[in-house]
Amino acid sequence: MEQASEQNMSGQGGLSAGDTRIGVAVREHATYATAVKMQIESFTLAYGQFVAVKEVTMPIAERHVTAIIGPSGCGKSTLLRSINRMNDLIPNVGVQGAMRLNGKNIYDPDVDVVSLRRRFGMVFQRPNPFPKSIFDNAAYGLRHDRLAHRALVERVEQSLRRAALWDEVKDKLSQPALSLSGGQQQRLCIARAVAVEPEILLLDEPTSALDPIATHKIEELMIELSRDYTIVVVTHNMQQAARASDSTAFMLMDESRAGRLIEFGPTRDVFTNPKDRRTEDYITGRFG
Ligand code: ADP
Ligand code: MG
Repeated sequence: MEQASEQNMSGQGGLSAGDTRIGVAVREHATYATAVKMQIESFTLAYGQFVAVKEVTMPIAERHVTAIIGPSGCGKSTLLRSINRMNDLIPNVGVQGAMRLNGKNIYDPDVDVVSLRRRFGMVFQRPNPFPKSIFDNAAYGLRHDRLAHRALVERVEQSLRRAALWDEVKDKLSQPALSLSGGQQQRLCIARAVAVEPEILLLDEPTSALDPIATHKIEELMIELSRDYTIVVVTHNMQQAARASDSTAFMLMDESRAGRLIEFGPTRDVFTNPKDRRTEDYITGRFG
């Protein structure tokens, strides 16, 4: 990736936790030298006449957590929903530019959108388990796979373990998912999403409805899951981006309210040594 360099990895001469502008430790990154999973190229999206995201170019690195931050309304969710073409479900959406997944533009006319969407997992702000059992929720994405019961049980266990939920639910898999706490429900939604082995996991403010302990668990989980999965997380919690992501994209609205990418880089750099004055103003709370 273009931002991979010795310089980035060593930071600003041994910065410690207290040195970030927001006072939380930035995650220690193993490496930035990972492959690009998706390249977003001059991507623009309009809802009817209203341009919500304009000319965004950024990479999404494989097995890496990429955070998208910025104030409400700057187009974070729109950009995230464009990554699996969920916005196509909204009438009058127009797009320009490209999003290349493993090199192939997902907006090419020959792409089958239904099978494309199956390659992504998505988790939203409010936990949204189905009114079914814990087991059936985790197994939901596998229902068409015609797995033997035993194989299905194994996949469910594996997904619940990956979502750091297994120990809490293994004795009550047949109980309703809705009997779980909010944080457990959100981890169940993550289990449901990872059960199908998505190529990219998309999380839209996954902790904004959760308490600090549940939030912490999800952040740990994102870091853990990024060993195996490519993760993109929208958050307006800057501490969360600093703690749990490898790369950060900062967006703002321009004069016409179009969402623009202001800065993109290794999380450490964005939070310790932002290149753009507007990023600095935002992360230090001087914004607006
Ligand atoms: P964020 O997630 O950063 O808060 P959004 O992507 O949700 O921002 O919204 C960006 C802009 O697009 C906002 O002005 C919002 O009102 C508008 N918008 C979002 N969804 C739709 C939609 N389905 N139709 C029309 N406008 C929308
Ligand atoms: Mg949003």
